Amino acid sequence: MSVTVGDIAGLCGRIAPYTDAEEWDNVGLLAGRDDAPVDTVLCALDLTEAVVDEAVARGAQMIVTHHPILFRGRKNLREDDAEGRMLCRLVRANLAMVAMHTNYDNAKPGVNDALAAALGLHDVADIDRALRQGRTDIPTFGTFADFAEQALGGPIRRYGDPNAPVRRVSVLGGAGGDYLSMALECGTDVFVTGEVSYHRAMDAVDNGMCVLEAGHAATERPGILALALALQKAADAVQYKIRVLNSEVRLCL
Ligand SMILES: [Zn+2]
Repeated sequence: MSVTVGDIAGLCGRIAPYTDAEEWDNVGLLAGRDDAPVDTVLCALDLTEAVVDEAVARGAQMIVTHHPILFRGRKNLREDDAEGRMLCRLVRANLAMVAMHTNYDNAKPGVNDALAAALGLHDVADIDRALRQGRTDIPTFGTFADFAEQALGGPIRRYGDPNAPVRRVSVLGGAGGDYLSMALECGTDVFVTGEVSYHRAMDAVDNGMCVLEAGHAATERPGILALALALQKAADAVQYKIRVLNSEVRLCL
């Protein structure tokens, strides 16, 4: 009997229960049908036309993303805008799609555990459902920032004194500006996030915390790779004969 979209959506829900998503979010099976057969799944950060093309080219019948689609309540499926075009392409290619957004942010392990691991942190603890704090053996902010650029594969905006000693590192992938005060309260030396405003970052520096703004995608991509590995492992464990691929599309850092 072949593996179905519903089977894979079920495995995804075991990795990060959909009921753990924030109330405003849009997660789970967002396109396709439960009973469609699947032998290849593509994991990606975002559903874009390039990712739909990649899924078709690599023989996938299903895409699992971090960021949802249909987030703002579309009222049409016209093809003269990018999202409408992408959605039509998705349907015509007979692809199913699952989103694992804040349910995966809040999972254990989730997107921020993968980010902490990518940054080589140890003794990682949960500060909040999503925020993680660990320790680094790299002694100063400047050298830690250099290392983080290598680890995450791109340039990082640095706020803080390069010679400041660092030990406790808090991480939150994506848009983490709202977590600055929580990171400060838990004695963070360096806060690593995807996006933060200049003034909020400078406030944090005034309060003795360094900040690395590493890019939304760069801080969440380790989570996508971890998700692909976890899904493959979960499928192997129940003897679903599927391949799980990690997207190679890179439209931004
Ligand atoms: Zn994100």
